[in-house]
Amino acid sequence: MARYTGPSCRLCRREGIKLFLKGDRCYSDKCAMNRRNKFPGQHGEGRRGKVSNYGIQLREKQKVKRFYGLQEKQFKDTFRRAARQEGIAGENLLQALEMRLDNTVFRLGLANSRKEARQLVNHGHFRLNGKRADIASIKIKEGDVISVKETSRKSEKFKALQEKAQNAPAWLEIDRKSVV
Ligand code: SF4
Repeated sequence: MARYTGPSCRLCRREGIKLFLKGDRCYSDKCAMNRRNKFPGQHGEGRRGKVSNYGIQLREKQKVKRFYGLQEKQFKDTFRRAARQEGIAGENLLQALEMRLDNTVFRLGLANSRKEARQLVNHGHFRLNGKRADIASIKIKEGDVISVKETSRKSEKFKALQEKAQNAPAWLEIDRKSVV
């Protein structure tokens, strides 16, 4: 599956807000939004002019897409599925994005960023209901159990994450003792 391989900070600078794409660095003084908060490119300084309604909507869409690390086609497909469901399309869309396996791993505090979560998932470090799950876009359902692969638990990486794990949101429950 295609993915964006360019500089992450450029995306934040383009949107004019922190998208928190780089984990710890985003909370430090090294964050590019703290050091040079201007549009990317040679003439970035003078590009913040009047924006049309279409432009505003486009930028909001781009923010969500980049925040969750999706490419245009993946985002479009996710939106189409969300729009076909009952209820408000925007809410369905956000729910679908939040329930992706890579986002869930990140929300559980098992990765520093969504990008890292995606890589860890792709490398097969997780099990979903006891079975190998290495596709980042798998949609989690209520009652699903995500576990770290037995051999991965012993790695320094997961031990470090265990120590600095965040508080999981209310819709997730984590048994931190069993992470490592
Ligand atoms: Fe965005 Fe993080 Fe880069 Fe700051 S450090 S510009 S929040 S990706």
